[in-house]
Formats: sequence, structure tokens, C-alpha cells
Amino acid sequence: MTGCCILDCNNKGEEGYVMKRFPINPLLKKIWLETIRRKKWKPKQYSAVCEVHFAKKMWEKPRQDGKKKLKTQAVPTIFGSVSDAHSNKRTQQAE
Ligand SMILES: [Zn+2]
Repeated sequence: MTGCCILDCNNKGEEGYVMKRFPINPLLKKIWLETIRRKKWKPKQYSAVCEVHFAKKMWEKPRQDGKKKLKTQAVPTIFGSVSDAHSNKRTQQAE
């Protein structure tokens, strides 16, 4: 069971969303926690952020196997109305 750890987001891996674990790099992890506004919260080993919070530019080019891969320095930047973000209406605003 992997649910998105963004407040107000209830997306889950079982629903077909791509879930991204927190980065291992401590610096990058800190940036993630700041951007998701949960500085005092410590992600668990399986804590993850779902794909809708990452802008298009944060993703690697589409791969042949169809898997979505984030760039090494990617950070989640899209919050708020998540259903809008998923339909790509908000993606441009965040960039
Ligand atoms: Zn989410």
C-alpha cells in the first residue's frame, strides 16, 4: 500500500499513479520536505510522492519500456488542486 504523502492528496499506487520515493540524497530529501511544506515530518522508508506533483520538465524523456523516470535533481512542485494537475491544466503555471 503506497499512498501519496502530500497533504490533501489521496492518490495511491494501486490506482495507477506512478509513486516516487523520497531521494536518498539527504540534501535533495530536505528540499523535497521544504517544497511539500512538511519540514518537521520525517518520511518513512516507503513514503512516496505521486506523479502529479512533478512538472513535465522534471521527467526524463519517455523511455522505450514506457516507465516514467524522474531526473536526478527533480523536486515536486505542483500542489493544490491535484485533479487539475493531473489533467495538465496546472502544469504550465508551475513551470
Ligand atoms: Zn499526490
